[in-house]
Order: sequence, then structure tokens, then C-alpha cells
Amino acid sequence: MGYKITDKCIGCGSCAAQCPMGAITEGTPYIIDHEKCIGCGSCAAQCPMQAIINED
Ligand code: SF4
Repeated sequence: MGYKITDKCIGCGSCAAQCPMGAITEGTPYIIDHEKCIGCGSCAAQCPMQAIINED
């Protein structure tokens, strides 16, 4: 399943700004499009809330 944004997300947008694939859409919480995501982990590293988890 790969990376997923949990309900710890506060909607800051740091992850979306960091994603090289443009795979993250604004929302509450933000949403990762798994068809676009290459699993690089940049978003998770950037999140100030540790809201992004890898389910693999
Ligand atoms: Fe984007 Fe990388 Fe996060 Fe996937 S793992 S959503 S490609 S920043």
C-alpha cells in the first residue's frame, strides 16, 4: 500500500510541496495518489507531525 497520511495531519502542506511526483492532494488530511507515488519517502521525512506512515 505504501505511504499513507493519517489523521495526525494538520494540513500544513509541507508534504505536497516536497513531493517530486506531485502525488499529494490538499485536503484534511492530505491524500497521496498511489498511482503517482514512487515511494521515495520525501513526504514522510518532511512532515512536522509524523503523520505519514509507510504501510509496507
Ligand atoms: Fe511523493 Fe515520495 Fe511521498 Fe510518494 S513517497 S507521495 S512520491 S514524496
